[in-house]
Amino acid sequence: MEIRIAGVVPESIVDGDGIRYAIFMQGCLRHCEGCHNPATHPLDGGKIVDTSELISAIKRNPLLAGITLTGGEPLLQIPPALELAKATKNLGLNVWCYTGYTLEEIPPAAHELLNFIDVLVDGPFILAQRDLELDFRGSRNQRIIDLNEWRRNNG
Ligand code: SF4
Repeated sequence: MEIRIAGVVPESIVDGDGIRYAIFMQGCLRHCEGCHNPATHPLDGGKIVDTSELISAIKRNPLLAGITLTGGEPLLQIPPALELAKATKNLGLNVWCYTGYTLEEIPPAAHELLNFIDVLVDGPFILAQRDLELDFRGSRNQRIIDLNEWRRNNG
């Protein structure tokens, strides 16, 4: 399945716990002031690759704890994000996902994808709440949500 990406970082240690295959998905309509990655905004930017290429690379690296879907806005490309998340879970690895939506705002079309995400880092980057001391996020409004725990608590 095709996916439009800005690029990947095959062994990231800044996009979640452990060593992660970080996939920077292309396209974001939010234009947060101070966004750290404006090159990912154009919907027609980046490059198109096949998810199977990414899955093969993930399979080849035994050091990975999981993948991180980031961007850009991963929820603008739900079908390939879902395919990557499912394949990653099938390998026994975990899935982190960054999104400019808050958990409460996630559109219904992305609810199946949520089922295959372990940790969601939610909310837009807000410059006035920027905090360089935070782990894995840029501004204080953003939350690192353990979705497995959230699912246990919300049935
Ligand atoms: S949601 Fe993320 S990628 Fe999109 S503009 Fe905001 S910080 Fe940048």
